[in-house]
Amino acid sequence: MKGFAMLTIGQTGWIEKDTPVCGPQDAICKPIALAPCTSDIHTVWAGAIGDRHNMILGHEAVGEVVEVGNLVKDFKVGDKVLVSAITPDWNSLEAQGGYSMHSGGMLSGWKFSNFKDGVFAQYFHVNDADGNLALLPEGMDLGAACMISDMVPTGFHGVELADIQFGDNVAVIGIGPVGLMAVAAAAIRGAAKIYAVGSRQNCINLALEYGATDIINYREGDIVDQIMDKTHGKGVDKIVIAGGNNDTFDQAIKILKPGGKIGNVNYLGEGDYVKIPRIQWGCGMGHKQIIGGLMPGGRLRSEKLANLVLANRIHPEKLITHTFKGLESVEEALMLMKDKPRDLIKPLVLID
Ligand code: NDP
Ligand code: ZN
Repeated sequence: MKGFAMLTIGQTGWIEKDTPVCGPQDAICKPIALAPCTSDIHTVWAGAIGDRHNMILGHEAVGEVVEVGNLVKDFKVGDKVLVSAITPDWNSLEAQGGYSMHSGGMLSGWKFSNFKDGVFAQYFHVNDADGNLALLPEGMDLGAACMISDMVPTGFHGVELADIQFGDNVAVIGIGPVGLMAVAAAAIRGAAKIYAVGSRQNCINLALEYGATDIINYREGDIVDQIMDKTHGKGVDKIVIAGGNNDTFDQAIKILKPGGKIGNVNYLGEGDYVKIPRIQWGCGMGHKQIIGGLMPGGRLRSEKLANLVLANRIHPEKLITHTFKGLESVEEALMLMKDKPRDLIKPLVLID
């Protein structure tokens, strides 16, 4: 089969590989829809997870099952499926402890385009199919369905990590597709003020549509000054970080109230340390929590998020700004993601 791969750090290309082998609990799928991710860009061009050789990229897909192992109970050949970007081993001790994303070791629930070939190929392998696939609901928009792989669950996980409660004043730093879904999730959780930090106009428009109450443009001044101004010097209760750089923690701590929580889902692609300001962190005693997390993955999460789409409570299809056709166009879609033109939120590739 052919697949679009990371050849080594900084290099991509089409390669030929054997079709993956299906274990007893696994499924082999062919893609129906694919999306490149900012994480693919960090992986290839920032070398964020170290070097990889001839590893097929991609972890966001909707698929059709072409083979199932003999122990798979709930899926059969021909089923159209939502595929979680994170595919944990659900019987691992880490998953039993509530940290499925770290099943088998830190971040090891993230298998596609990390520990094994990803989904940008004619066929891809899904471990623990009963735990990691979900049926594609009849009639669901393929763009929305593909966003349930990663953008929706990751944005929602940011909100879970920040523990957003009704009435909280919240900042969402970064309103690319992940941050936008965090805005939508914060609104569903009943946040009061939602300060959305970004600069691209179509992201700003969508943030307002998804429930942001205020837009903070980080290119027009320090976000600390802007948010402290708007909150009359009080700061916010909860923060989701879904963009920015290593200075973002510094800013986030400065705008967080004592007792506040930061949920980080941003993938720190570069540098050795993150910066936490000592004084504003209460000299270590400010009860300001930072939790960074990979989203948990899995079938139940996909099914619940699909329920939100079906009930018209979230509209992830609106993230799709560019649509391509055919497997070969994943290359163009990925390069678009790398270049990030200002009108891009998320590209989608439909496979015939
Ligand atoms: P985007 O690059 O599309 O969005 C990043 C956002 O951050 C944009 O709104 C951008 O603003 C904003 N931003 C950039 N620089 C700054 C700054 N200095 N201060 C404040 N805001 C800034 O990324 P995605 O939405 O695709 O992904 C977000 C992050 O989530 C990525 O790091 C990605 O790798 C990670 N991720 C994590 C996962 C997980 O499970 N934890 C899974 C999937 C993704 P502008 O409007 O100017 O572009
Ligand atoms: Zn992704």
